[in-house]
Formats: sequence, structure tokens, C-alpha cells
Amino acid sequence: MDCIFCKIVKGEIPSKKVTENDKFLAFYDINPIAPVHVLIIPKEHFEKFDSTPDEIFPQMAEFIKEVAKTLNLSDYRLITNNGKNAGQEVFHLHVHMVANPDGKLKWPKLV
Ligand code: AMP
Repeated sequence: MDCIFCKIVKGEIPSKKVTENDKFLAFYDINPIAPVHVLIIPKEHFEKFDSTPDEIFPQMAEFIKEVAKTLNLSDYRLITNNGKNAGQEVFHLHVHMVANPDGKLKWPKLV
């Protein structure tokens, strides 16, 4: 069975899209933790950061910069939770892009 983000890629589950190309998709997180909270995913399913082929990342980095441009963001934070104890809940590689265009993001204690 497809994972939830594969279903979003296929349009089987609705999402609020920011932008996409043939390999990547950016859409708004359903439960935002900052004024801007976007998820960036490869359309192909990879479980997590450390099981994703290295050649994906340069292309993904380029796409992430395009997303920032689309959102007119100069300052933002990128987060990838790799594994359950790191906080990963959806096992389809994703990068969180979070930003506060009107001020500074906090840097919370995590434990
Ligand atoms: P992580 O905990 O790093 O795996 O992050 C998973 C993220 O996916 C969480 O921030 C969720 O709020 C988000 N999420 C889960 N389901 C959806 C959905 N259908 N549309 C948008 N974001 C989602």
C-alpha cells in the first residue's frame, strides 16, 4: 500500500501545493509549527534520509532553493527527521522548511 506522501504525489489525498517539478513536490504541512511550514519531498518513495541515494540530494537542494524563491523567503530552517527516535512519523523522505517572515524563529530545547 502507498504511503500517505505517495498518495499526495498521486493526487489521491489533497494537499496545498507550493510548487513542483518532475522529481519533487513542495506542499504546506497540515499541522504547521511556524508561520510558514512546507514539506519538500521527492516524488519517488525513499523511506528516510539515510536510505536515499546520494544523487538525489543535489537535485533536491536545487529544488529547495526554488521553493524558497517561490515563497519569497530569504531566511528559513530546514529539518529532516531521520528515524522514529528523531521524530520521523511519515516514512517517505521529507525536508521541513519552516520560517517566520516577520521575526526570528526560536531554537527550542529538544529533550
Ligand atoms: P515527520 O514527523 O518529520 O515525519 O513529519 C511529518 C509531517 O507530515 C508532520 O509535520 C505532519 O504534520 C505532516 N503531515 C502528515 N500528514 C499530512 C498531510 N496529509 N498533508 C500535509 N502534511 C501532513
